[in-house]
Amino acid sequence: MRTVWVLGDQLSRTLGALGESTPSDTRVLLVTSRAKVTHRPWHRQRLHLYLTAMARLGEELRAEGFEVHEVNAADFRSGLAEHVAQFEPTEVVATEPNSAAARALLTDLGVRFVRSDQFLCHADEFAHWAATRPGRLRMEDFYRWQRVRLGVLVDAAGQPEGGRWNLDAENREPPPKDGRTWPEVALAELDEIDERVLRSLPDSATGSDPIGWWPTCRADAIKRLEQFIAEGLPRFGPHEDAMLASEWKLAHSVLSSSLNLGLLHPQEVVDAAVAAYESGTAELASVEGFIRQIIGWREYVWGLRWLWGDDWLSWNELEAHRNLPPALTGAGTEMACVANVVAKVDSHAYAHHIERLMVLGNLCLLAGVAPQQLVDWMWEQFIDGAEWVMQPNVVGMSLHADGGRMATKPYAAGGAYLSRMSDHCKGCRYNPKLRTGPDACPFTTLYWDFIARHEERFAPNHRMGNQLGTMRRLKDLPEVRARAQEVLTLLDSGHL
Ligand SMILES: Cc1cc2nc3c(=O)[nH]c(=O)nc-3n(C[C@H](O)[C@H](O)[C@H](O)COP(=O)(O)OP(=O)(O)OC[C@H]3O[C@@H](n4cnc5c(N)ncnc54)[C@H](O)[C@@H]3O)c2cc1C
Ligand code: SF4
Repeated sequence: MRTVWVLGDQLSRTLGALGESTPSDTRVLLVTSRAKVTHRPWHRQRLHLYLTAMARLGEELRAEGFEVHEVNAADFRSGLAEHVAQFEPTEVVATEPNSAAARALLTDLGVRFVRSDQFLCHADEFAHWAATRPGRLRMEDFYRWQRVRLGVLVDAAGQPEGGRWNLDAENREPPPKDGRTWPEVALAELDEIDERVLRSLPDSATGSDPIGWWPTCRADAIKRLEQFIAEGLPRFGPHEDAMLASEWKLAHSVLSSSLNLGLLHPQEVVDAAVAAYESGTAELASVEGFIRQIIGWREYVWGLRWLWGDDWLSWNELEAHRNLPPALTGAGTEMACVANVVAKVDSHAYAHHIERLMVLGNLCLLAGVAPQQLVDWMWEQFIDGAEWVMQPNVVGMSLHADGGRMATKPYAAGGAYLSRMSDHCKGCRYNPKLRTGPDACPFTTLYWDFIARHEERFAPNHRMGNQLGTMRRLKDLPEVRARAQEVLTLLDSGHL
């Protein structure tokens, strides 16, 4: 009998190798590697999610009649060796893994791969698309290509529903001031599997314990999807970019961990969103905005990860070498926006997209933090962290370390942007309008210093013309730059 080795981020009965298996021809192997569990200070909710979801898939497969071998081994290599010694499978098969490290290891161990259908656009298809594009690989072009080839919100002539491909202009509103409530997230009750896993977590794990936010099985992931489609999707669009101190997700879907683990497939998520539009329960602006995240951004990032391969790891175009600020790793900070988002990461292993990009990423971009340090921290702390998603989002989109391959200009902003798009500044001891002096907002000070620091580099980029022009007209630029040095010293020492 053959063995299908199911990896922890491919927990789907219908995916790849497992999808083509039956209990009569296949035994299932699930390996927990103690080395993997302990080699980084993972967030407790992240470890809990992976280990619990693997255990639950094992139970489901047993209920279907599969023989399931769950191995807790020193590492993956010895886990497979233990399995082979016990069962002597005719061959060991796996779905093409999602990380380069797993691909290399399983190849070395002689495991045969079945092509993955976990994404709607396989890396090979993305490479074909990219080969037809001279110049920049724009997400918007990829997204339109996906819409047409997948037949999502397009008519028979391949034209977009509603006449426009992108309704983002309607989706950039600041936080509402009406004190509204946001969609709820139903909590799953923790059972004895959760408790067993929690007891087994290593001392190296960080962050708060889970209370049922993150679905650990397909049934709960489907419930989460249904709840989002009914209550969250109609409100998804307009305040997508807004940030509120009192709200951890606003109308965001919190579906990323379920998608990344394979508990949900992107096709069913898209189908559910389109059905909501067709039945009139959600407006086109919200549905289009959400679908763009799923078949656009998510698949674009996946494709770019493989297209540019391991090159990502060495990119550091802005020559950023600063260590990760202690403000992110528990030192505390008086920057209200940072303190608030870091607290959410601790409590939920989550921050929404704009908090990741414009608070955490922006701070590291402006300060010049080494890309791989932010990659490592986010990978460890976010519930949905994965190698394929970190490199493009952190190295590319957030830190501009890819030299503009993904984004034509850096996602850099000072306190004015954060003050407009959030309510953090009201409770902050710093003033977003000031760029010098002890009360100046560190984001505002560092923003102008960042533009001045990279003046030569940004000069040929016409999209940076306005920022460079304004920076050159600042009469107090020397004072701003002097204050920036003080801010960076305070940031490094954890006293900002
Ligand atoms: C600095 C930075 C780090 C990030 N780290 C991760 C990460 O570790 N894991 C991760 O899955 N996403 C990451 N993202 C992308 C995005 O922020 C998250 O997918 C999203 O916030 C997850 O929350 P949600 O499910 O509520 O998303 P929603 O806002 O509801 O969006 C719906 C879905 O779209 C997908 N999506 C949207 N944008 C992206 C994107 N840029 N890349 C990949 N998928 C996207 C996700 O699957 C998400 O669940 C990162 C973005 C930035 C800027
Ligand atoms: S004033 Fe600056 S540091 Fe304080 S919350 Fe606003 S943006 Fe953040």
